[in-house]
Parts: sequence; structure tokens; C-alpha cells
Amino acid sequence: MRVPLVVANWKMHKGVREAVAYTRELAALAPEFRGTDVVLAPAFTALSAVAAAARATRIGVAAQNVATDPDGAFTGEVSATMIKEAGAGSVIIGHSERRRLFGETDATVNRKVRAAIGAGLWPIVCVGETLDEREAGQTFAVIDRQFADSLDGFTADQVAGFVVAYEPVWAIGTGRNATTAEAGAVHVHLRGRLRQGFGATAAEACRVIYGGSVRADNIQTLVALPDVDGALVGGASLDVATFADIIRGARF
Ligand code: PEP
Repeated sequence: MRVPLVVANWKMHKGVREAVAYTRELAALAPEFRGTDVVLAPAFTALSAVAAAARATRIGVAAQNVATDPDGAFTGEVSATMIKEAGAGSVIIGHSERRRLFGETDATVNRKVRAAIGAGLWPIVCVGETLDEREAGQTFAVIDRQFADSLDGFTADQVAGFVVAYEPVWAIGTGRNATTAEAGAVHVHLRGRLRQGFGATAAEACRVIYGGSVRADNIQTLVALPDVDGALVGGASLDVATFADIIRGARF
């Protein structure tokens, strides 16, 4: 049985002080979340402070991005080892904003996943189609390409510890979320691809979470779907009380 996972992607919000205050407030509620894994993804600058505030709690910490290379002349980049040293345990890779605004390709995502696991971080690998791709009937082809190329070359044991986030791009930050039929169909498809590519054991262990305008009033319907193992939450994670409500709703 997979443990539900709820990840807060704060994007470029919250400085250190606000991030730490939020973490402490959420940590005070953490006993209520037993049975659900909770991860906060702050900006790089707040990573170590949030990790320190979350230490000795059940709250995990993720970075929102990672460099492809371990070190070197890459101005502005942050390596997987640095992220690990800052206290994070995981990293979001291939978010659609990174793909769309910063030109990340599936090949980049693959290199980042390799860098992450090399440093002992577990990757949260994002896939998802744009509205144009969905309307052109290409949803499954796009997901298949992103999935295959991003995870190419990894072993079943490695993939068992990954998280795949299905985030339809048209549902991110738009207030519009996929219907249960739309989300459910892609999650079933992804589970099938995991089984096909990495075997039944890895497919059963790997968590596939949904992202795209998740709120406290739709999380229960989403996690009721058999292959939805939790959520990646952007906008609605910025308020601690709202995020706490989403975590409460994410129990299977
Ligand atoms: C996200 O950024 O991953 C996301 C899902 O955002 P939102 O919840 O705001 O749609």
C-alpha cells in the first residue's frame, strides 16, 4: 500500500522568515497528518532554514530545481549535493514552468534525475500535456515521450523510490482542474507504463501524484481514484491552514 504524499510547491514565494513561520505552524499540526507524507518545497534561499524548522518533525523538504552537473562554472545553478547538504530529501524536476520558461527538455530532466539520485535525493518528476496537445488528441503520446525520455536508463529499484507528478499544464494555476475521468485515465496509463518499463514491484511502489489547481474541496475526489497517490499543490499551498486542509483530505 502506497503512503499518500502531498507536496507544497511554493514557487518563487516566501522569504526565509515567512517560510520558517509557516513550517512551524504546520509542524504543530503534524500529529494530525500521521499516515500521509508531507513535503514543503521552498525557494533555494529558504531551504536550510525550512529544513532546520522541519527537523524532528514528519515534514520533508524538497528543492524546486537542481543543476544537471555536480559542480563547475555554472553561474546561478545549485547542485544536488548542495541541496542535500541544505537538508532537503527530495527535488521537483521538470516542472512545466521549468520546461516552458527555462527551456528544459526531457533530456535535461533525465540528467537532473541522475544528479539527484547520485546525491541521495529522491526525484519528483513532472509530466503533463499543454491544452493544445490535449485538444489535438496527443495527451498520451506526450506523456509517453516525457515519461520514457525522463526515466530512460534508470533501474526498477531506483524508479520504485521516485515520485511521478502528472500535471496537465492547462490546469496549473488556472483554477481549472482535470475531471476525475481525465486525471484517472492518465494515472492508470502512467501506472501501466511503469509496469511495462520497470516491472510490477516498481510500478506498485512508485507514487504517482496529481497537480493542477488542487484545493481542499477537490483533493478527496482525486485521491479516491485508485492510481492517484497524492498531490503536488501550488497556489493553495501558500496558506498554511488551506494546505493543512488539503493534507487532511488526502488520506485514502
Ligand atoms: C504546481 O505548480 O505544481 C501546481 C500544481 O500549481 P497550482 O496548484 O497552483 O495549479
